Order: sequence, then structure tokens, then C-alpha cells
Amino acid sequence: MKYWNEEMETLPRERMRELQFDRLSKQVRYAYDKVPMYKRRFDEAGVSPDITHLEDIQNLPYTVKDDLRDHYPYGILARPMSEVVRIHASSGTTGKATVVTYTRHDLDTWTNMMARNFTAAGVGREDVVHNAYGYGLFTGGLGFHYGAERVGAKVLPVSAGNTKRQLKMMKDMGSTVLCCTPSYAVYLTEVAPKEGYDPREDLNLKVGLFGAEAWSEEARRTIEETFGLKAYDTYGLSEIYGPGVGGECEHQKGLHIWEDEVMIEIVDPDTGKWLEPGELGEIVLTMLGRETMPLLRYRTKDLGWVSVEECECGRTSTRLMEIRGRSDDMLIIGGVNIFPSQIESVLYDIPELGDQYQILVDRSKALTRLGVQVEVTPEFAADGNADWDKLNGRVQESLRATLAIGARVELMDPEALPRYEGKAVRVIDVNK
Ligand SMILES: [Zn+2]
Repeated sequence: MKYWNEEMETLPRERMRELQFDRLSKQVRYAYDKVPMYKRRFDEAGVSPDITHLEDIQNLPYTVKDDLRDHYPYGILARPMSEVVRIHASSGTTGKATVVTYTRHDLDTWTNMMARNFTAAGVGREDVVHNAYGYGLFTGGLGFHYGAERVGAKVLPVSAGNTKRQLKMMKDMGSTVLCCTPSYAVYLTEVAPKEGYDPREDLNLKVGLFGAEAWSEEARRTIEETFGLKAYDTYGLSEIYGPGVGGECEHQKGLHIWEDEVMIEIVDPDTGKWLEPGELGEIVLTMLGRETMPLLRYRTKDLGWVSVEECECGRTSTRLMEIRGRSDDMLIIGGVNIFPSQIESVLYDIPELGDQYQILVDRSKALTRLGVQVEVTPEFAADGNADWDKLNGRVQESLRATLAIGARVELMDPEALPRYEGKAVRVIDVNK
């Protein structure tokens, strides 16, 4: 099957805009009538909840993560609790958790969006989907699970952890699809050979669906070459259902956003003004049919840029061409903006280096200082003639050439750095 919802995925752009206007105008009125927070905010700003053009969305107030925290746990519900059938929450290790609720209709919408992602990646009834996203309050596990079931695939709900068992299950069950965080997939490329598996011969993986964290093209190549699979990026966040807001098709030229359900805007993070396709800015999302939590103009803090040109696959949707990671993750070193994924790109391009690294940020001095700890490969470590100083110099040079700043580099023995089964912690603030 080529499309999960052919009509919506190939709708001419003009008709999509009409459909979006129709749904958005109803959704704005609904949020105003049902959620006291929005009524107050619209009234205070003197903004009408009755929009007359799609562009009017620019005048509506934003929603931010703190709004969810401030209304913890059930303050933004537009439906009675009796209609809520699922509750997800962020971990809330620092401060209050953010709680997200779903009606049956909301779960159905989410599952269908994930089904579009799986279908666009070529996953269907023949596939065995190994789901190593964590099952629990986090939306990753159940989001991928129900999406895969909906397209008729067989789902192995393995969840995160116990890597040895993961590999055995993958082999014994003949898994064809791997779903997990990209950093865990990179970790698996290292563990599989060590546990005695030939990742291409012993495992039957053809497709990987990865997401939940920013990853580099070099990480994608490492995963693809090791397992002989095609790696697809997915985008989403818990506040906007979960994973499934968008995904790549076989041409892998950006992520198709399912715009009949989620409207995307790119805005200047400082001024809040609309940006044109091709311009990098903050991704702002509005759900067009959400029942319980009809969040309007949710500021994701993710930076990215879009294209509205039609894709070779026939899908007409706006494509998210790049996700530069969260603006929160951006490091400002010596006046230069740096994303951890840029550092990853440099490191993964040097063959003598392994896949595990840590970025150390030292803010104790007037000038913030950057350090990078990276493992060398077992081959390099075992070579008695290996020139560690020379390699260190090369890594420093490459970082300087790409990032335009200096970094202290520390080469580590293989397996010296921690491994992660979910989202990796790559940036360490050494002053904390
Ligand atoms: Zn496409």
C-alpha cells in the first residue's frame, strides 16, 4: 500500500488550505468556548474567536509548555473526564509533569497518523515490528505500537532495556522493522557483533523508524550500513498526540506533516512573526481536531524549516526539511550557536572514532568552554602504533573547521562512556 489515507495525503494544496480553514475556525471557537484559559486569553488580548481567514491564526495567542504545567493536571480539558480514556505524562523529574489526555476519538486520530508514517516507510501486513520504545507514561511505546497494529503488522512490544534479550528476540522472531530512539539504534550497532550476531546475516531488519531526539545524517548512515536497513525519521511530541505528527516517505526529502490534523507554522523565535518556507525558525503546531486538549499554536521549541513543493511520492503536504533540535539544547559558545547534532556529525565522520561521545559545557569562567569526550574504536585502541595525539589534533581541527570554535578533546577507551536505552544524555553541564 502506498498511502494510508490517499485522499488527505494527496489533496491539492488549495483544497487542503480550505479544509484547514474550515477545521481551524471550528477548533478555535471550540477552544474558546470550552477552555477557560483560552477564553481569558482571547478576551484580554481583544482577539475574536471567530476567524475569517486561515492567516488569522497569526493573531491568536500562543500556548507554551508552562501553560500545561500551570494547569496541572486536568486544567485544559475541553471534555468531561468521563470521556477521557488515556492519560500520558512527562516524567516531571524537574518541576511539575505535563499531563496529556485523550478521548477515544483523539487516540484514533493519533493512531491513524502513525499508520501514515508506517505506510510511508513501506511497513505493512508482512512485517514484524520490534518496538523498543519504552512503554509507559512516555508516548513513544504505545504510539508506535498502535500505529503498527493499525497497518496490520505484527508487533513485538519489547519495550526498552535488556539489550541481549532484544537481539535474541529480533533474531528468533524474524523482526523486519526496528522502532527505537536513534541513539539506542547506534548502541545496538555496537552490541550486536559483540553478542555474536552478524547484524546483516543473522537479523532480518529492512526498515527502522526512529525519532524522539535529533540525530545526524552520519548516525543514520551508521545504522543503515550496519543492519542493512533503511532508516526513517519520525517527528512528534507528547503535547501534540505523540510521535506521528510527520514522517518520511521513501524519497526521504523531509518529513511529511499530516496537515489535515496538525497545522504547522514556522515563526521567528524572538518576534513570533511568520517566516517563509526555507527560513529556519521555531516549529509551532495547532491540532485541528483534538477533543480533550485543543491546544492552539503550541510552541514546540524545536527549530526547523519547511518546503511546500510537491514531493515525488505524490504527497502534497508541507515537508519539514530539517529539525535542528530543541532551542533549549542549543549551546551558545563564544557567541556561536551550536547544536549537539552538529558535533555528532563531525565525530561520526572520523573513522577512528567510536559512536559514543559526551559534550561537556563549562560555564564557570567568563567565556563558556566546550569539551568533547569521545571513544576511539576497538581497532584503534588495539593498535600498538596508533598515534593518539595526532588523532586528537585531527578531531580538534575538524571541530574547529565545522563549528568555528575550539574545543578541548579527550579520547577515551572503547566502552568508557555510559550507554543509554532511551534518549541519550549527550550534553553534560560540568558545573552542576
Ligand atoms: Zn514524499
